[in-house]
Amino acid sequence: MDMHQLSLTDISRALAAKEFSASELSSHLLARIKALDPQLNSFISVTEELALSQAKAADARRANGETGALLGAPIAHKDLFCTQGVRTSCGSKMLDNFIAPYNATVVEKLADAGCVTLGKLNMDEFAMGSANESSHYGAVKNPWDLTRVPGGSSGGSAAAVAARLLPAATGTDTGGSIRQPAALTNLTGIKPTYGRVSRWGMIAYASSLDQAGPLARSASDCALLLQAMAGFDPKDSTSVEQPLDDYLAALNLPLKGLRIGLPKEYFAAGLDGRIAAATLAVVEELKKLGATVKDISLPNTQHAIAAYYVIAPAEASSNLSRFDGVRFGYRCENPQNLEDLYKRSRAEGFGDEVKRRILVGAYALSAGYYDAYYLQAQKIRRLIKNDFVAAFQEVDVILSPTTPNPAWKLGEKNNDPVAQYLEDIYTITANLAGIPGLSMPAGFVDGLPVGVQLLAPYFQEGRLLNVAHQYQQVTAWHTQAPTGF
Ligand code: GLN
Repeated sequence: MDMHQLSLTDISRALAAKEFSASELSSHLLARIKALDPQLNSFISVTEELALSQAKAADARRANGETGALLGAPIAHKDLFCTQGVRTSCGSKMLDNFIAPYNATVVEKLADAGCVTLGKLNMDEFAMGSANESSHYGAVKNPWDLTRVPGGSSGGSAAAVAARLLPAATGTDTGGSIRQPAALTNLTGIKPTYGRVSRWGMIAYASSLDQAGPLARSASDCALLLQAMAGFDPKDSTSVEQPLDDYLAALNLPLKGLRIGLPKEYFAAGLDGRIAAATLAVVEELKKLGATVKDISLPNTQHAIAAYYVIAPAEASSNLSRFDGVRFGYRCENPQNLEDLYKRSRAEGFGDEVKRRILVGAYALSAGYYDAYYLQAQKIRRLIKNDFVAAFQEVDVILSPTTPNPAWKLGEKNNDPVAQYLEDIYTITANLAGIPGLSMPAGFVDGLPVGVQLLAPYFQEGRLLNVAHQYQQVTAWHTQAPTGF
């Protein structure tokens, strides 16, 4: 088997058994990226030199007797994790010239664990989008069908891992940006509980919703990465000081007696019937493993998109005010005065979707409208959270489709932002409530991957990985690779 066909779990084992070195593996994958990524556009930067030196260092550490599941494991980061000495663009012209002066905590932790960074991955501009078409560096293509989107905003991460350019990648999820692209490209991805993974050094979109997590080929691969990424960080005031669970140990727990809830609002109008069928087939499989199933209701789901698209832009409008042409990134040419500098730097540096969100957010926060929009949205957010807290009195996990539709054609929803916003219907509630969510492969419709979402109570990432891993022990959807890659 070629090295690139191995999962992260296999690679970890093979490196430990010295079947090949980290340097050999990185060189192989860098050559593959060079040969195949022009079809996908999943990388914004390939960090060949950094990768080869990290791989050499990992090999040296291993030669010195060091062990460690990720020692020499190749990964890449979504291009919003600050990476010291490397351009960190956030998919925007605004930060095209920004070389990060420090590492994000996630980058630092994975580097300490011995990961080799192959590059920085394409994404929707400032993580705003569900199709990876709003990037300053161009759209990313879905390796399952190059005429379709890979999902977003972590579309580069998803496309690169799905195409076997590398075994795993980091992503971030503000309203679904790990789970939705994972679903559209046949990967497993997990958004941890808000506060479980440090946001320090992650360029902020909506600070009360953003969380980082891994995208990989299986639940066990995700467990390996999450174990190294997660944990308390004194540099992030929203990071939670609570010991980490052992995610790898959790994988093998039996599912006997697991109570699964099926929320009726997640199977309502707008859902592709074939995706509903694939989702229910997963439920049948889990029943065979000993799970029981219950119909539940999350009655405030219908208000989630409206609330999210007030809260996320409101926070974005505030976070993005720091990009003013003075301190970071793009500055317009020949400014006439300070106001001209601000106005033109922002007008020229930001793309259309980012401007739309800043306008919506600034409006929702403005005097006279704050109570009518922002405050109301926060109240809905609390109701959505309460729905989950009540549901988890009765069930251990909630299962639903990840997305209402499979991957759509490039350009198809470009001129209709609301149609794109509606694709987030099943994922954004977890961000609003702060609970963890996972998407795993669940089959195909017309050759396009379908994902199923699992949600759990706060800090039960281990449970999600456990259920997905047990499912993946008895099914093979997650092992399917797109032809041509
Ligand atoms: N599609 C959603 C948005 O555009 C979610 C994006 C994300 O999770 N970063 O806001």
